[in-house]
Amino acid sequence: VPTEFKEALPILQRIEKAGYEAYFVGGSVRDTLLNRPIHDVDIATSAYPSEVKELFKRTVDTGIEHGTVMILDHGTGYEVTTFRTESGYQDYRRPDKVKFVRSLKEDLKRRDFTINALAMSESGQITDLFGGLADMKAKIIRAVGDPDERFNEDALRMMRAIRFASQLDFQIEAKTLVGIKRHSQLLEKIAVERTHTEFVKMMTGRDAENGLDLMVATDLYQHMPGLTSRQSQLQRMIQSHFKLINEVQVWSLLAFYFNFSSQEISQFLKSWKTANKIIDDVILTTELLFRMTADQVANWDLYRAGRQNVTNAVAILNTISPASFSAYLTDYQKLPITDKKQLKITGGQLIKAGILKPSPELGKVLNYLEKAVVQATVRNDEQALINATTSFINEDD
Ligand code: ATP
Ligand code: MG
Repeated sequence: VPTEFKEALPILQRIEKAGYEAYFVGGSVRDTLLNRPIHDVDIATSAYPSEVKELFKRTVDTGIEHGTVMILDHGTGYEVTTFRTESGYQDYRRPDKVKFVRSLKEDLKRRDFTINALAMSESGQITDLFGGLADMKAKIIRAVGDPDERFNEDALRMMRAIRFASQLDFQIEAKTLVGIKRHSQLLEKIAVERTHTEFVKMMTGRDAENGLDLMVATDLYQHMPGLTSRQSQLQRMIQSHFKLINEVQVWSLLAFYFNFSSQEISQFLKSWKTANKIIDDVILTTELLFRMTADQVANWDLYRAGRQNVTNAVAILNTISPASFSAYLTDYQKLPITDKKQLKITGGQLIKAGILKPSPELGKVLNYLEKAVVQATVRNDEQALINATTSFINEDD
């Protein structure tokens, strides 16, 4: 039993002592049984939210209208959700109505896949109403109930199925897969942010090539931003044995295969509602991918991209290419400076020495010195930098 469960046991016990049922549910049960690390412990209970709140001193109403109360315990927050059924699925999205119920069975029935519909009691006993344990053993993702109905209720489940197939290295059961093919178009009803999260999780899963293959085979990719006409490039990617570990790597590899300019990257990623910081990093990493594969990397390119993006580019290329690109990591480490602040002279010093007056010229000089030091044409020491400044000014005149 993982420590996360042990630490949460007093919460289960407290709820049960008050006469209600309480179980660990969802991803944490699945991952524990699969011997995978767990990240959040979800608890389901027959107690209504108001009843849960009466039992604990410190609670937060994180999602009380959906039945979720967060219990704060020694610095950890535990989400406790009342057993519920869902109804009123409009527009193929999440339900707008939830109904609280007292039966675990009803709660497990609304869950997406059999391996996600397991509950574990305080004593470690598993409730398995839909064959989740057998599916886990056979490495199968299977919808709970009728796949057509379930994907009609919430189209995001199609993305989740493929995401789990990738993360767990599981197969999608035949009828569930047919259901995805049949309903792929419904993905367009889903908020891009939710599709985004699942797509990145899928692409960073351990069997992501299979995941991407499934997205093409089911036509789901046709209903994601900017991928509609990209079948042949995706197909080549699937053959490439890529392994990715973060979001910047995911988008950079796509941009590389799509041969995108910075402008195109920006447009593509905005359509996915990607954070601006990620977009900046993807542009820098992708540029390195093009330069590294063309053997056209200058020190300035490495410097501008920064350590994290150099690491990303090297990591990507090392997985898709038989050659090693790790030498670029050493090149980066050997840069004379990695930040403008490391210049051995400041604007203030140049003014004090009477070489320059405060003016726009000063910024230009410092940019010039930065580039010259990175390219190793000027040494990074005070006298060399002053000499370089003087000749730069004279040349400019
Ligand atoms: P992760 O490891 O990514 O957290 P997870 O299975 O825990 O995976 P969550 O989104 O945290 O995924 O959801 C917790 C549980 O809630 C799931 O295991 C599943 O039982 C249920 N669930 C989540 N999303 C859906 C959905 N769209 N439809 C039905 N059940 C869902
Ligand atoms: Mg979870």
